[in-house]
Amino acid sequence: MQYFTLEEFTRSETALRMGLTNVPTPAVADRIRRLVETLLDPLRSEWAARCTAESWKNPGIVVTSGYRSDELNRAVGGAATSAHRSGWAADLKPQNGRLREFKQCCRSFLATRDFDQLISESEDAAGTPRWMHIGLYDRNGQQRGQLLSMRNGRYFPMTD
Ligand SMILES: [Zn+2]
Repeated sequence: MQYFTLEEFTRSETALRMGLTNVPTPAVADRIRRLVETLLDPLRSEWAARCTAESWKNPGIVVTSGYRSDELNRAVGGAATSAHRSGWAADLKPQNGRLREFKQCCRSFLATRDFDQLISESEDAAGTPRWMHIGLYDRNGQQRGQLLSMRNGRYFPMTD
């Protein structure tokens, strides 16, 4: 856990507002650590290198949603099968707002790695996402290597 803290994966404004608990079990906390060490810390390093090369400010990455307890997942309308419930997935945003470039960086980073899903979420017509979803395993322990875009609630092969 070089660039991320467990707290970032469990903090939820929705949970606070609605008084829901969002405490991971030790097994879930272990998965979050593996997600960070396997994918998110190396991705953060790669993104920082890209930002430096392009003279972009602030290479920080924000976790907008990490672990979701069952009650929190229901409250935010998450899919029942969501990998967020098991600690295997995170929603990410670059602090410098370069979502289009961040999408491309995530995709090229994962091209040589095992993972379950990369989703460009709530894209606009130009293919710019509102955030990126990254999952290491699905709930059955599989790594499907899926690259998807989501627009208007529909999923399809990831746009460029
Ligand atoms: Zn997600």
